[in-house]
Amino acid sequence: MILGNLPTLTFFYILLVYFIGGITQGILGVGLITVVISLLSFVVDVKETIIDFDVHHGNGTQDIFYENENVLFISTHQYPYYPGTGSEQERGKFNNIFNIPLPAGISSEEYLNVFDRVLKKLDEFKPEFILISAGFDAHEDDPLAQFNLKTDDYFTITKRILEASKKFCNGKVVSILEGGYDLNALRDSTKRHVDALLEFN
Ligand SMILES: [Zn+2]
Repeated sequence: MILGNLPTLTFFYILLVYFIGGITQGILGVGLITVVISLLSFVVDVKETIIDFDVHHGNGTQDIFYENENVLFISTHQYPYYPGTGSEQERGKFNNIFNIPLPAGISSEEYLNVFDRVLKKLDEFKPEFILISAGFDAHEDDPLAQFNLKTDDYFTITKRILEASKKFCNGKVVSILEGGYDLNALRDSTKRHVDALLEFN
């Protein structure tokens, strides 16, 4: 349980490194998420949940953990949209994939209401570790997709995940930066996300 007992702050370097990397290199989150969870699975036998609020479906992450009963993958994403996967019918071998496909144009308020379903699923699964696949391209200013989240919504979403995590995870939460293609929105949303993480600690 060595890794599991490290506090959230210990992992900020990962987020920051990938924040810098993301600006210069674009989409790169899925690979790192996979490496982190795979390492955790190897080192410790714990139930893990990945919450992916990037506007794109995390198809690579889903594929890798599709038959892993210790990993619950939850994704909210624009659908239909690139990469084309992420329907509700894709449930995983152990009902461990929970896709929440959402239409283009969804408002901030509608998204936050839907997010209750993420928290409910978390409650059911009771993970011992949570990994946030933190893409900020569902922001209203993002040029790639058509969601309308506002900067402060990322604070709210993060707080809600962290509040829910208290029941099972004891602060074991890692966040890894994924997409975000309007640099101002990415900067401000990431800051609000980190504000919530810091407040939690
Ligand atoms: Zn994305």
